[in-house]
Amino acid sequence: DWTSPFVEFNSSIPESGLVLAWLTRDNTKPLRPLPGSALHTRFGSFQHSSMISSKYGTQLASSSSTQAGFIYLLHPTPELWSMSLPHRTQIVYTPDASYIVQRLRIRPGSKVIEAGTGSASFTHALARTVAKNGRIWTFEFHEPRFEMAMKEIEDHGLDGVVKCSHGDVCVNGFIPVCDEILDASAVFLDLPSPWLAIPHLKSVISKEKIVRICCFSPCMEQVQRTIETLQKEGWLDIDMVEVSCKRWEARKEMIRKPQDAIERLRDIKRRRSEGLKKRNERKLAEERNDEAVSEAQENGPATPAEKHVPDKPFLPSEYNPWGKGKRVHEGEDGYEWKEVSKVEAELKSHTSYLTFAYLPPPVQGKDGSSE
Ligand code: SAM
Repeated sequence: DWTSPFVEFNSSIPESGLVLAWLTRDNTKPLRPLPGSALHTRFGSFQHSSMISSKYGTQLASSSSTQAGFIYLLHPTPELWSMSLPHRTQIVYTPDASYIVQRLRIRPGSKVIEAGTGSASFTHALARTVAKNGRIWTFEFHEPRFEMAMKEIEDHGLDGVVKCSHGDVCVNGFIPVCDEILDASAVFLDLPSPWLAIPHLKSVISKEKIVRICCFSPCMEQVQRTIETLQKEGWLDIDMVEVSCKRWEARKEMIRKPQDAIERLRDIKRRRSEGLKKRNERKLAEERNDEAVSEAQENGPATPAEKHVPDKPFLPSEYNPWGKGKRVHEGEDGYEWKEVSKVEAELKSHTSYLTFAYLPPPVQGKDGSSE
């Protein structure tokens, strides 16, 4: 019986348990909290002792007196792991991974062959999906990468489900280090020459179930060669997909009227005719006004009479829809807004073509032989 934080959820952080410390959108750091250690970042230092026994999801404030930053202590998931893992190769990112898993119909208990292991990003997504009763046989021919992946899989408690093997699948086929008989119903090939590995598959895939395959290739020439081999080997329903992900954002945009444009033009004209001197005078007056208002605020609740401080000019810095002035927050009362949708930059993913196909189980002859 085995446990892994990638398969089972713990509500609180155990000592030396894996935590993904979320610093910024693009910076998540894996760590294992130990008493006496600290995480030092540009947002401040974070004591490991304050992490132990905290709930996953906690926002932790920095212990430095000079930097008032904070981080989030997140539970490991394959999605967050793909954002924080030490890269050894190009990796499969979540937008592709989720699509491949559902197209290959991988679910709890599934048996999957993967080659190459690379940085084991996709291996984590597979392991979480097949969970305790499934099996991932993953192959890598680059020895240091194989060693690192195996160590990481053990560290993450996934060695009960993931079996790492070292070898060249294009030359020798899928020979596992464990003495298990391979009968996969799903195959994922992220290799430069998948067409050389495909002919070796027949002996390691299920003889009873439909077997689904996905080959992940960045070039169209690779796709063409893969398709030719799949056809020759009897794979059916071959199709190719490219996942291109965008994040859609719902926002409010301020409605600007022609009158606002006229005001803006008047403002420019006024500035020109008043000249720099007058502008500086006005700026100074505004600053004195701000100081006076904050003084009044510090001296207790302001009454309407107090808000206007005598002897000091009160010049409100009004909102100017196209220029400098008061900062208006999105959706703030007192302005007109319309709902718009906006496309953000493309999500991080390694753009590749995904070639899918399936192989039906061999037809059994009357004498039990398969055709
Ligand atoms: N899918 C992986 C991930 O998400 O982390 C990344 C795989 S990486 C792009 C491709 C890997 O395949 C490399 O580590 C490479 O060493 C390995 N590889 C290439 N040809 C191979 C072969 N013939 N047999 C085994 N591994 C191979």
